[in-house]
Amino acid sequence: MEFLPADPDKIRKLLEGRESVLEERLKEDERYYASKTCPECNASCFAVLDEKQPFTSGRLTPKCLLHCTSCKTIFEPDTGVIVKTGEAYRPVPTATDIFVRND
Ligand SMILES: [Zn+2]
Repeated sequence: MEFLPADPDKIRKLLEGRESVLEERLKEDERYYASKTCPECNASCFAVLDEKQPFTSGRLTPKCLLHCTSCKTIFEPDTGVIVKTGEAYRPVPTATDIFVRND
């Protein structure tokens, strides 16, 4: 799905004199995203539009994924599910990794 940008001047003119129902919801989203930290390294994050699923039922504002400012992990803020691991990811060593002999 492709989103085309609308003309901001036309939008402003159409909305003149009307109450904004999204402004408070967007501020709530901003506070919610700012309260989250990276599940891998506990650093701060910034929100980026979830392009694969920007809108879900029962939600007025676009859905975002959080990107870690430190290790670059990307995760879903509501569930904490990691979408992409960042630099902090270290694979757990297997038994063969631990017991390799060099003789
Ligand atoms: Zn991180």
